[in-house]
Amino acid sequence: MNKKELLNYFDSPPVTPLQEINDELFNEKNIRLFIKRDDLIDNFINGNKYFKLKYNLIEAAKDNINTLLSFGGAYSNHIYSLAFAGKKFGFKTIGVIRGEEHLPLNPTLQFAKECGMEFYYLSRSDYRKKYSDEIISLLHKEFGDFYLIPEGGSNNLAVNGCSEILQRIDIDYNYLFCACGTGGTLAGFIKGADSEKKIIGIAVLKNASFLFDEVKKLLASEKFNWEILLDYHFGGYAKFNTELVKFIKSFETKFNIQLEPIYTGKLIYAIYDLAKKNYFKPGSIIVAYHSGGLQGLEGLRQRNLL
Ligand SMILES: *Cc1c(COP(=O)(O)O)cnc(C)c1O
Repeated sequence: MNKKELLNYFDSPPVTPLQEINDELFNEKNIRLFIKRDDLIDNFINGNKYFKLKYNLIEAAKDNINTLLSFGGAYSNHIYSLAFAGKKFGFKTIGVIRGEEHLPLNPTLQFAKECGMEFYYLSRSDYRKKYSDEIISLLHKEFGDFYLIPEGGSNNLAVNGCSEILQRIDIDYNYLFCACGTGGTLAGFIKGADSEKKIIGIAVLKNASFLFDEVKKLLASEKFNWEILLDYHFGGYAKFNTELVKFIKSFETKFNIQLEPIYTGKLIYAIYDLAKKNYFKPGSIIVAYHSGGLQGLEGLRQRNLL
C-alpha cells in the first residue's frame, strides 16, 4: 500500500464552492440558501465518502492491514468509493453485498470490480446479522485478516472525518442540512458544530426513527441542537416518484447543479418544502451539503427509472 500518497491525498481535500441558490422563493421568504458543492471533491471518492474514508484508511495503513472489507447494497456509493480508494492506494478490497449476485453487474459493482474489489454476497437474512460473530468469523475464514469498515462507512473515525467538513464552510449560517442514510455524516456535523447552529438530517429511508439512536451512539457527548426529519423519504430508500424527478430536473436547469433522487434530491426538495411552509425565520442563512453520489444516476438510467 502507498501510505505516503494516502496521507498526502487526505491531507489536502480540494477546495469546493459554496454556491448560493438565487431562487425567487427564498427572496420572498427573506432567507438565503447555499449549497456546499462537495460533489466536486473527486469523481470517484466524492462527497461525504471522502471524509468518511479518510481516518479509516489512515488507521488501516498505520496498522499495516492490507485488506479492507465493508458492506453495502448493490448500488452503494460507499462500496464504489472504497473500491476506487483500494485501487488508488494499493489495498485489497472486499465488498460484502446484500442479496444475490445479478449478472451482468450493475454499473456501480462493475466499476468496483474493475478496481479490483472482490465480492461476497450475503442473503438478506444473513445480511441483517452481518456483524454477528458467526458471519464475521465466516468472513475471516474466507478472507483472513482485514480492516472492517461498517456499512456506509459509519463509525467514530468517519464521524471525526465528517466533522472536518464544517471548517470548509466559510459562512456564518443558522441551519446546516444533510441527507441521512446511516447518520454518520450528520453525527460528524453535530459533533463539530457550535451549539447555536441547528443541524438537520433528512432521512432517505422509511421508518427511520432508529436513526436518532444511531446518531446518539456515534456522538461522544450529548448534544441538543439537531433534528432528523423523517417525512421526506418518498416511499423509502432508493424510492422516488415523478414529482421528485421533475424537481431534480428543473433544479438542474435553473442552477446547473446535478442532484440524484436517492439522497441529495430528497434533501433539496425538503428544504424547498420547509421554506414554503415558513419553517425558517426570516433572515435565516441555510447551508445544504451536497454529498455527491452522482455515480448512482447511471444505474438508475440503466433500469429506465430516470
Ligand atoms: C452515503 C451517502 C449519504 C449518506 O450518508 P450517511 O453518513 O450514511 O448518513 C448521503 N448522500 C450521499 C450522496 C451518499 O452517497
